[in-house]
Amino acid sequence: MAGEQQGKGVREIRINPIVPTESVLVATARGMRPKKAEERIERDTRAHVDTCPFCRGNEDRTPPEISRWPQSGDWEIRIVPNLYPVLGDDSPANSMAFGLQQVIDGYGRHEVVIDHPHHGIIIHEMSEDHLYHLFRTFQARMGELYAADPRLKYVLVFKNFGPAAGASIPHTHSQIIAMPVVPENVQNEVTHSRAHHAKFNQCIFCSLIDEALTFEATIYERDTGQIRRKINVGQYVIERGERFVAIKPFASRFEWEIHILPLRHEADFLQAGEADLQDFARVLRRTMARLDKVVGGVQFNFFLHSLPHGDDYENCGESYHWHLEICPRTSIPTGFELGSGLFVSTVSPEDAAEALRNVVID
Ligand SMILES: [Zn+2]
Ligand SMILES: [Zn+2]
Ligand SMILES: [Zn+2]
Repeated sequence: MAGEQQGKGVREIRINPIVPTESVLVATARGMRPKKAEERIERDTRAHVDTCPFCRGNEDRTPPEISRWPQSGDWEIRIVPNLYPVLGDDSPANSMAFGLQQVIDGYGRHEVVIDHPHHGIIIHEMSEDHLYHLFRTFQARMGELYAADPRLKYVLVFKNFGPAAGASIPHTHSQIIAMPVVPENVQNEVTHSRAHHAKFNQCIFCSLIDEALTFEATIYERDTGQIRRKINVGQYVIERGERFVAIKPFASRFEWEIHILPLRHEADFLQAGEADLQDFARVLRRTMARLDKVVGGVQFNFFLHSLPHGDDYENCGESYHWHLEICPRTSIPTGFELGSGLFVSTVSPEDAAEALRNVVID
């Protein structure tokens, strides 16, 4: 695929089409290789750990439960307040400013979702039915938080898996943070997709999905105009379900980053129905199984990006498109990345997608 480029590798800066201020340096030549994250973590595969506050039987070691599923019998999923919240509900959402500095009180909610009773289970080992209920649980709680307090502008659902991804408790869990501001990453996507829609009357996410499913693109040499290589854009598709698609972005910060999006336009995750989330669960499980086969024992973050609530966002239903971003942490950002904001990817997205697509999974 990289063809005549094979010897010296690909070296190009790719602009994120959704957020053009974000870019990635794809440099497959060895010299640019950033420090590798610890190859594999010692995975704790135990089903139950007596001392773990998230294991069944230790429910009294967490703060009082917010909700559980199912309601009766043994729980499969629990939501509890975070013991060390980064945002709390004990301060009013006021803001103040002095000089150029602005402060918004750290008002909000920080909760933990205990994903599964099995201590050491990882995503693709969970059943699709369980994953369906997990995302149903996220959805229900997001809805409750938005409804309970109009000062909350965004409810972020995310998961850290492995120490390199920031997880401090090994038992599988996710987190929900409800905050009084819309986080910058989401705001950037909202702003740029709204501008794209105003100009072309199209959702940019839908257009990118269409491209991934159909087009072939050609990359030309800037100086000579000669064809450098042809890209079958369909090669970015990792996994396709009836209602969802998993895509390796053309320009992404993390080498093995994958996004899962609904094929039919939908701005707000809260609108996803039963059949949607069933297909989503299937695509997610299969995608994570592929990732595990290729990258093995990978530490990762995933997070949900959905339309923020509030008056400012009511006109964004046509232009925004919810998705799950999965960011495997296979290398550690260096001074170059932190100083420039330019992430380095030593695996070309095309090669990554091909590897992920080609593995055989159950
Ligand atoms: Zn546990
Ligand atoms: Zn769309
Ligand atoms: Zn996003």
